[in-house]
Amino acid sequence: MRKVVIATNNAHKVEEIRSALDFEGWEFVTLSQCPPYDEPIEDADTFEGNARIKARAAHAHTGYAALADDSGLVVDALGGAPGVLSARYAGTHGDDEANNAKLLEELADVEDGHRTARFVCSLVFIDEQGREVCASGSVEGRIARSAAGAKGFGYDPLFLPDAFGGKTSLAEVSQDEKNAISHRGNALRALKDALA
Ligand code: IMP
Repeated sequence: MRKVVIATNNAHKVEEIRSALDFEGWEFVTLSQCPPYDEPIEDADTFEGNARIKARAAHAHTGYAALADDSGLVVDALGGAPGVLSARYAGTHGDDEANNAKLLEELADVEDGHRTARFVCSLVFIDEQGREVCASGSVEGRIARSAAGAKGFGYDPLFLPDAFGGKTSLAEVSQDEKNAISHRGNALRALKDALA
């Protein structure tokens, strides 16, 4: 079996990656199954740059092939924010409720036609010899005026993908329905093609 470490602690991302990259002979391991190391500082100003930082650290510390994802929400009316700061938009890393509340507040005066946004995902895969392959994907939509749905994570309850007619949030659909149109689903399909 070829061991590939997924450089994330986000269980949602792990599941999406596992089901999308179903290569025979690959065994995905998570960071919690590897000897602990200090997480690198994600200080790049692009999603790809931060994914590269995480993938390189995982590869260097484990010796395994490594795969990292960096993703976030890009809102046009906010000049691209929260962008690479999506996970800590309201201050505390991973506080989805506070992040969503801040996003609604920032967009309170923005009319429906100008609430356009996209999720973006960059993936970096590093093989055992250190060779890197990158892929990215996005999904277009709008930011709702209030949250809907309890599935998914992060900004899903506020994101209305164009592909769902702009009426259904990403938190109201199944994982498979989300994967079929999502930024991470699109990036994983592109990476799978590149690695095949
Ligand atoms: P990362 O773990 O540093 O890549 O941070 C990604 C952040 O972007 C998450 O904490 C979420 O706030 C947001 N995000 C990324 N992908 C998604 C998604 O599929 N749904 C909802 N929010 C997402």
